[in-house]
Amino acid sequence: MAALRGAGVDFEPAQSPTGDVDACAIDAPVRLAAVAADKRRVEIRAKPLLSCAFALQFSDFVNNLLKPLAVGATNASLVAIETGSGYECRGRNHDPQAKLSAHAKGLALDVGGLVFSDGRKIRVDAQPDPQSTAYVKALRTAACGWFTTVLGPGSDPFHATHLHFDIERHGSNGSYRICQ
Ligand SMILES: [Zn+2]
Repeated sequence: MAALRGAGVDFEPAQSPTGDVDACAIDAPVRLAAVAADKRRVEIRAKPLLSCAFALQFSDFVNNLLKPLAVGATNASLVAIETGSGYECRGRNHDPQAKLSAHAKGLALDVGGLVFSDGRKIRVDAQPDPQSTAYVKALRTAACGWFTTVLGPGSDPFHATHLHFDIERHGSNGSYRICQ
């Protein structure tokens, strides 16, 4: 949390949720309100419930990739990100028999849309112009430098409308990534 504060992230410490399943829990839970508290603020409107570690990684991704890429690809500043709620106590792909989702540990966030200073809104599943399409494609490719799992439209029917980012470890050494 000291690192989050140091990065200028706007967040509030939160209570760890008590799920129906004992394994659903968040290590150092926070509600993420905005990345960078200054004039380069990017609102996270849904204030998702996340582990501190995920919030830090996501903020770094926004500050070091989404913001500069927006200026280059769209000639506008990124001002808000539309996301899901972060934490959800459930199995992968909403299957109760499946392994617990990274969402059940606060290690994942779904992004559905991006809002820019010129009023433009880009959905990850439908872009209004070629510039926006290039932006979404580039951020999706680069996301695997920050997250261990990146899924989205075209990956499978569960991710047709949003990009899923998580930092769950895959395999024994943690270097394996699922980037689709
Ligand atoms: Zn997800």
